[in-house]
Amino acid sequence: MRRTRIIEALLLDNVGKQVRLCGWVRTRRDSKAGFSFIELNDGSTIKNVQVLVESSLPNYESEVLKTGIGSSVEIIGTIVSSPAKGQLSEVKAESIKVLGFADPAVYPLQKKGTSFEFLRTMAHLRPRTNTFGAIARVRNEICRSIHEFFQSRGFIYVQTPIITASDCEGAGQMFRVTTLDLANVPRLNGGTEVDFEQDFFGRPTNLTVSGQLEAEIYALALSNVYTFGPTFRAENSNTSRHLAEFWMVEPEMAFCDLEGNMDLAEEFLKTIFSQVLSNCHVDMTFFNERIDNTVLETLKGIIDSQFVRLSYTEAVDILKRSGESFEFPVSWGVDLQSEHERYLTEKTFKKPVILTDYPSDIKAFYMRLSDDGRTVSAMDVLVPKIGEIIGGSQREERLEVLETRMKAQGLNPEDYWWYLDLRRFGTVPHAGFGLGLERTIQFVTGMGNIRDVIPFPRAPKSAEF
Ligand code: ATP
Ligand code: MN
Repeated sequence: MRRTRIIEALLLDNVGKQVRLCGWVRTRRDSKAGFSFIELNDGSTIKNVQVLVESSLPNYESEVLKTGIGSSVEIIGTIVSSPAKGQLSEVKAESIKVLGFADPAVYPLQKKGTSFEFLRTMAHLRPRTNTFGAIARVRNEICRSIHEFFQSRGFIYVQTPIITASDCEGAGQMFRVTTLDLANVPRLNGGTEVDFEQDFFGRPTNLTVSGQLEAEIYALALSNVYTFGPTFRAENSNTSRHLAEFWMVEPEMAFCDLEGNMDLAEEFLKTIFSQVLSNCHVDMTFFNERIDNTVLETLKGIIDSQFVRLSYTEAVDILKRSGESFEFPVSWGVDLQSEHERYLTEKTFKKPVILTDYPSDIKAFYMRLSDDGRTVSAMDVLVPKIGEIIGGSQREERLEVLETRMKAQGLNPEDYWWYLDLRRFGTVPHAGFGLGLERTIQFVTGMGNIRDVIPFPRAPKSAEF
C-alpha cells in the first residue's frame, strides 16, 4: 500500500479512505477508557495527525504503550472526521507497527521548548522539531522560487567552480585547498617560500568566495546567466549574520547597467517573498506566531512597496544629521557598518533601501568607475533587521580603467588575463549581484541567528556533523 503523507491525510476530502501513514511520534496520551492518542508527524507539514489507537489492538500493551516522543511507527487506518477542536480529521488505527523505539529517558528532544543554542549541538535531530522542519520547508521553497524566477526569464543556470586559483576579489579571507603534508611542507629559497609546484594543482588554490568572475564569462556569451552554489569565507566574524560556508545566488546580465540591475534585484526579492507567502502559508503563520510577530506584515508590505534608492553620499549625510551616536562614526569614505545600514532601513525609511555609488576605495576592483572618478556603480540592498542582503554592481567593461583599478588595489593584472580578455574581445556593459541565501531565509522567517537557517552551519570553531 502506498504511503500517504500526513499533509494529505489531513485533508477533509480524504475522509473514509484507508491509508498507510509513517512518521515519528510527537506525543502519546492514554485514556482510561481503553485507547491512546498518538500525535504523528512525518515532516510533510508542521501539523501532526492525531491517531486513535484502541487497546484491542494485539500489540497495544506490549508495544504501543512503550512508544513516546521520537519513536517511529507505521500505521494502517482509516481517516475519519474528528470531533476534537482544532482539527478536521484524525486517523483510526487498524494496525500499528513500531519501526524503532526511542528511549524517552535518553532521547535529547523532550516535549518542552528547547533552546536554539542547545539544538545547534543536535543538528542530527533538530530537523524533527517544529521550527527546524518549518525552516527546511521554507528554505526549499525559496530555492525553488529562485530557480523559477530566473528560468522563467530565460536566465541560464551556470555552475562555477568551488575550487579556484584566482585570488578573486578580496571579498573575504579564503580557505586554502591543498594536498601538501602540513607537517612537512615542501619549501623553496632556503625555506622562505612554499613550493606549490608540488601541490595537487601545481599552484595555490582556495575555496571560492564568489562565482561572479566566472559568471561574467558566461554572461559575455549567453547574455543572462545565474549561479547558485556554496561559497566560503574564512572571515573570523562571529556574528549572527555570517557563516564560513553559505549559499549565494549570483545573476549576471550583459547589456545591462546599474539601473537594470536594481530593477532586477527589487523584482527578484518581491517575487521570492510573495511565493513563500503563498506556498508556505502554514509555516509562515508559525514563524509569525512563535518567532517574530512582524514577519507576515513586513513581507506583505515589501511586496506592495517601492524600494528606496539613494546614493551612498546622501546616506552618509542622513546618518551624520541623524544625531544618533553610532559605535563607528560616519564620514564620507568609510565603509558602512551594519548599525548604519539598519538605521537607514529601520528608522529613516522603514523599508528596503538600495544604496548606490559607493567610494571606489572601499569597493572591489571590478566595479565600474563613475565619471566623477571617485565613486563606482555599486549597489547594496538593505533590509530591516539584517542590513545588507544583496551586494552588486555594474562591472567595469573598459580595459584600461580596469587595469588601472587592479593595480591601485595591489592586484597583478597578469593573474586575471582571462578576465581582461573579456574586455579585450567584444566587451559590453554588464551588471550583476549576489544574494545571500541564508540572510534571505533569516529575513523571511525572523530567525535571529544565521546558524539556524542552514542545516549544518560552519562557523569559527564549529564544523560538527
Ligand atoms: P558583509 O559586509 O555583510 O559581510 P559582504 O559585503 O562581504 O557582506 P558580498 O561580498 O557583497 O558581502 O556578498 C553578497 C551577499 O552574500 C551579501 O549581501 C550577503 O547577503 C551574503 N554574505 C556575504 N558574506 C556572508 C557570510 N559570511 N555569511 C552569510 N552570508 C554572507
Ligand atoms: Mn557587499
